[in-house]
Order: sequence, then C-alpha cells, then structure tokens
Amino acid sequence: MIIGDRICANCNQGYYGNFCNNCGQKDAHRYTLTHILHEMVHLFTHADKGIFSFAANIITKPGTIALDLVEGKRKKYFNLFQYLLIIVGITTFLIAKTHFLEITMQNINSFNNTKMSAQLANLQQQSAAVLQKYNNILQMVLIPVFALFSWLFLGRRKYNYAENVVLHTAGSAQTNTIAIVTTLCFFISSNKSFFLIMTIISLFIMLLSFALCYRQFYKISWGKALLFALLVYICSYIVQMVFVTVIMIAYLLITWH
Ligand SMILES: [Zn+2]
Repeated sequence: MIIGDRICANCNQGYYGNFCNNCGQKDAHRYTLTHILHEMVHLFTHADKGIFSFAANIITKPGTIALDLVEGKRKKYFNLFQYLLIIVGITTFLIAKTHFLEITMQNINSFNNTKMSAQLANLQQQSAAVLQKYNNILQMVLIPVFALFSWLFLGRRKYNYAENVVLHTAGSAQTNTIAIVTTLCFFISSNKSFFLIMTIISLFIMLLSFALCYRQFYKISWGKALLFALLVYICSYIVQMVFVTVIMIAYLLITWH
C-alpha cells in the first residue's frame, strides 16, 4: 500500500508534500533548459550553498563552519569534504605545474651552501618529485594526524576525535584555498629570495590557520590558540617526517632497478 499522493521518482516511496520523507528528494519534474540554467546559477551564486561563497567563508571562518557542521547545521553549507577534494586537486595540479617543491628544495640547498654528493642531491630531487606527485594523498593523510593532536591537547572533554577530523578538514580546506593564490604567485616570479619568503609566509599561514580554527571552534583566546597551534604543528611535523621517510625508503626500494 502506498501512503501519500505522490510517488518518489528516486526511491519509490509514497509521500505528501514537496519532498520525499524517505530520501529527501524534491518532487522531480522533467528537465527543462530553465531548470538546468537555474541549477548552474544556483551552484555558483547561492548565498550559502554555492562553492564560491563557501571558498570566501572558509578563508575567514574555518573553525566556525566546523563548529556549525559538528552542531548539525549542515544543509546550509556546500559539502566540506567534496570542497576539499576539489581544492586539493587544483593545488596539486598547480604545484606540479610550477615545480614548486623541486625549486624550493634547490633553494634550500643553495642557501645551506653545503657541498652535497651528487647522489644525495639526486635523492632530494627525487623526493621532491614524489612529494609533488602525491601531494593530494599527503594532504589527506595529514588531516587525521593533526586531528589526533588537537583532540589530545584540546578536545578530549568536549569533542570527540571524529569532530576534530571535521575541524582539521575545514582547516585544510582553508589553507589549500589560500595555497591556490600563493602558488599562482610563482607563475609571476620564480626569483630565489621570493621563493624563500613565500615558504616562510606559508609556514606562518599554516600556524595562523590552526590558531584561527582553535579560536573559533574551541572559543579560546588568541594566545592559547597560537600556543596549541604551535604544539599541534610540531607534533604533526615529527609524525610527517617519520611517515615521509618511511614512504621514501619504500618507494626507492620498489623503484630500485
Ligand atoms: Zn525518495
């Protein structure tokens, strides 16, 4: 027996009103050009749910958005995880195009001014190439690591580990959005000192991003937020170094011949 005056085209459940109460789909009409046009315009311009307004919001309030999502205000935002996938895809593409990491590595070497063996230099170049290629995977892998430390240091009483993953997903979405702008700067200039300055700025952006996330999400002072940001960053950096070294060794062993 079907209850309701409509049958959902998506899941075949009977229902009353404009939305299916089983799967949530809106009453489906045949596609028309105005409908498609409306969807397109909606995707880009809608005040809350559009991708561009989300990009603008994630830069200034990643912690607030994460808090909203954790508290259940989800429908009004563009999907955070989808957004991160899109944005990491773009930054990975840009980083590969600008040879950002290879040049950074070269610059660090020339600033250190050490006489490295050709073999070691070659190894570093290879590492940079691999890091560049798998930047997107590394970005994703780091989120649960950041979350682990923010959960341990800040959240254990109030928020669970998964909620800290949401917080750092928002944080990564923010830094990757900013990274699009900074990486684009490398198309303009590939000057050595410019690279060094940008690398230092990137580090500060990362720390500020963490601090902003913690301040908005945990509602703590800037001082405390910065302190925890530094703590989480250092701990995650150590884990990252160990992780990268292990991957590097594995990669070199596999591609030895
Ligand atoms: Zn349905």
